[in-house]
Amino acid sequence: MFDMQEPGYGPGASMHDTLPPSSPRQGFLPQEYRQASKGELDQRIRTAKAALGERLVILGHFYQRDEVVQYADFVGDSFQLANAARTRPLAEFIVFCGVHFMAETADMLSRPDQAVVLPNLAAGCSMADMADLDSVKDCWEELTEVLGDAPDGAGRQPVVPVTYMNSSAALKGFCGEHGGIVCTSSNATEVLKWALARGQRALFFPDQHLGRNTGKAIGIPLEQMPLWDPSRQLGGSDALTLQRSRVILWHGFCSVHKRFTVNQIAAARQRFPEVRVIVHPECPMPVVDAADASGSTDYITKAIAAAPTGSTFAIGTEINLVQRLANQYPQHKIFCLDSVVCPCSTMYRIHPSYLAWVLEALNRGEVLNRITVPEQIAKPSRIALERMLSLKPESKPESRIESPVASL
Ligand code: SF4
Repeated sequence: MFDMQEPGYGPGASMHDTLPPSSPRQGFLPQEYRQASKGELDQRIRTAKAALGERLVILGHFYQRDEVVQYADFVGDSFQLANAARTRPLAEFIVFCGVHFMAETADMLSRPDQAVVLPNLAAGCSMADMADLDSVKDCWEELTEVLGDAPDGAGRQPVVPVTYMNSSAALKGFCGEHGGIVCTSSNATEVLKWALARGQRALFFPDQHLGRNTGKAIGIPLEQMPLWDPSRQLGGSDALTLQRSRVILWHGFCSVHKRFTVNQIAAARQRFPEVRVIVHPECPMPVVDAADASGSTDYITKAIAAAPTGSTFAIGTEINLVQRLANQYPQHKIFCLDSVVCPCSTMYRIHPSYLAWVLEALNRGEVLNRITVPEQIAKPSRIALERMLSLKPESKPESRIESPVASL
């Protein structure tokens, strides 16, 4: 489905953020694309892509629907894809079939002369929207009042901010400016240890579940990981709790991953006693604790690829990825923990009709929906990203260039 009404702007940061006047806004999709059949759209996308040749690279997130992923040159998680674009120096146009914060990261990591295009500007991320810059700044001020701003005897700052990749460029910039860092679901443990070596505590946003699961895994007691609710005084906590804290968790979550439950795991084990349950660390802590393993999309993919033939997997992550893995590895039984789980609804807004629209415009020399992060935000954001990169190299994305579409 494409949007039947004029879609709003999904800034990836917050619907409450003040948008620069230059921000692109998603308007109505022209009627010719709304009315085009599936077959016509397919032909138009392939023709437009072929005409652009090396000038174009299309990136598809793991959670993107197959109808769109089939046109991607690379498939991976957000950070893998941003890096993949760098391997295509001839590409003038990077079309990112993901959500807004991913396109922002790709823009910050690509050359200034490369244009990053998000086919539908209403493709935001509800989790990223839960932490906006103003609320984080207010939190920082309140924490400074309670905790001061002087380092302790070991030279550790009172608080080191850590933002998940699933956040706006503005928050990554905030981290860059305040001695903080970015993390992914693959490297959250290393990043949190880095932060706690430099700070008496970390402020982790926007995903409370990734923060809590990671903190718990490195031995931090739950009572030292208070939740910060931005709508309440001192985040709903008190001075003593904050002083004793090691990780302060922002009150954010992924609406897709919070749907998984311990009962679903119990039901899967009852049906298939040999099942191996793997969930994403954006799932709530009791779900991660009840699973056999938890890890990023990259981890899940590799675990399935390495399993002996005939394995059974119950997976707790977005349905498009689970279904793709089930098709890709027919030698295993792979199913989603939640049989009625919804796809990531914002990523789902990238319909082939939007892809056809932006690609045909590029062929006419028109760059629609370009995502540009202002340099005053991009500069500190890159500092926070580089701190992360200096910790551990990320794995490479899956190249789709040689892969037949039929293998999906
Ligand atoms: S799956 Fe969750 S965290 Fe990922 S883009 Fe969708 S809403 Fe955001």
